[in-house]
Amino acid sequence: MSGGFALVPLDCPACGAPLAAEADDVVFYCTACASGFRHEPEASRALAPVEVAFVLAPTTPAAGWLPFWLLPARLEIVRRDAAGGLLSGLLGLLGGGGGEEGEAPADPAFLIPAFELPIARLVDVAVRYTVERPRLGERLGERLTGGVHSPEDAAKLAHYALITVEAKKRDMLRDLDYRLELGTPRLLGVPWVAAEGGRRDALFGIPL
Ligand SMILES: [Zn+2]
Repeated sequence: MSGGFALVPLDCPACGAPLAAEADDVVFYCTACASGFRHEPEASRALAPVEVAFVLAPTTPAAGWLPFWLLPARLEIVRRDAAGGLLSGLLGLLGGGGGEEGEAPADPAFLIPAFELPIARLVDVAVRYTVERPRLGERLGERLTGGVHSPEDAAKLAHYALITVEAKKRDMLRDLDYRLELGTPRLLGVPWVAAEGGRRDALFGIPL
């Protein structure tokens, strides 16, 4: 989100093809060899490899693809004082308790948009994708640009989403103490479609 960088043409460290990128991108995807890279803030200018996957597109052809981070998540609830009942939503899902949403996935993960969105919308999208956990397909030779959030940003957003969603719940959260361990981030391509007034995600129709 910092402006004012000079645009430097980037080549793919794996195959040498030019990488498609927008001005503030911190994550890159090579459409030629299907390799993903993130800018490593500690090692200045170095591009570190990241694993990439694409969400399985629905039948509607995608107009384009947007970058998300998939953060494997292990959630441990240390203490939670609330007026009522079951863990639901994110906590139930990621805490492995099953919650109201049914079986917890074997490999719980947060799915967080890596592109710019207003924070409330970003949380909505993150929660929907995290809870629904769309199936993954093959890596495609599609552009994945506009990724301005680093995996570190995504981790902060994951905590924020967790707390925001819990606080909104009807049983009135009084106290929550949790430990969230996040694993190695993967870059995820998510399809969008054109819609009235802009673009929507191709799976749930959320405006992006
Ligand atoms: Zn390449």
